[in-house]
Amino acid sequence: AAAPAAAKPGLLGRLFGRAAVDEPRRVLDDAMLESLEEVLIQADMGVETATRVTANIAEGRYGRKISTRELRQALADEVTRIMTPVARPMPLYPKRPQVVLVVGVNGSGKTTTIGKLASQFKAAGKSVVIAAGDTFRAAAVDQLKIWGTRAGVPVLTAPEGSDPASLAFDALTRAQAEGADLLMIDTAGRLQNRADLMEELAKIVRVIRKVDPTAPHNTLLVLDATTGQNAVTQVDIFRKIADVTGLVMTKLDGTAKGGVLVALADRFGLPIHAIGLGEQIDDLSPFDPEDFARALVG
Ligand code: GDP
Repeated sequence: AAAPAAAKPGLLGRLFGRAAVDEPRRVLDDAMLESLEEVLIQADMGVETATRVTANIAEGRYGRKISTRELRQALADEVTRIMTPVARPMPLYPKRPQVVLVVGVNGSGKTTTIGKLASQFKAAGKSVVIAAGDTFRAAAVDQLKIWGTRAGVPVLTAPEGSDPASLAFDALTRAQAEGADLLMIDTAGRLQNRADLMEELAKIVRVIRKVDPTAPHNTLLVLDATTGQNAVTQVDIFRKIADVTGLVMTKLDGTAKGGVLVALADRFGLPIHAIGLGEQIDDLSPFDPEDFARALVG
């Protein structure tokens, strides 16, 4: 898989142009800091984070001469510092089955991510069951079945339009009976009616807790990195709807919008468990802060 954001010029490329890799030292003055802040905002870092990052870079360097190389390093260090605490794989518990609820708006890459994760867990020797909890989207259920076949993992479905909570209940009961290690539950992602979605997710949680009072053990929010600052809004919304325990950022292949990850880390501190780098089953990687910072900064 390609490094995230590698396809487009990084932040420094946008600041100085591609040619300026070994730009001679220039004074880090207000104008340069302003351009830097502007580029960070354009890269979806958000105003607050961009301002803080710029201030941190200015500290101890303001008014001095700095080369592009030094600025690149300072920026990469700053991004790495923000991202390191959130770079954590999804925790695995001894609890069997571990119940993973997967939430996110339609199109964010939920189905794909569930397929990729199932395949990774399977390869790690875990037995996995998937529940196709978005019972109102027949296409999503079909897509999930295809991913299940690819990953070699059973996908439990229910008739179109039936109660997702009831499917989740049956799925957990079966996963328990089979001694499965992991149950991944897909959910609906219609934000048009937030109250309905909230009730649907709350009901799923209520019902699976009748089988296992400690479930769900993880609630993953899947976010499309190309939506930029929208991802921030989605975290805000989903944290109100569900007890989000971690993030998966999709579509980081070939996007220059990865800056939103910095905004998310800075603002919410939620762990980033994995990043999606393509549409294939192996295109899901652990989140590496240094690789990410290098690719983002360019
Ligand atoms: P859902 O509606 O949230 O379940 O989203 P899907 O899993 O169906 O994904 C929506 C689209 O995004 C599909 O065309 C996927 O192939 C694509 N997609 C998902 N993850 C990635 C990724 O990491 N990179 C790229 N390039 N495409 C992705």
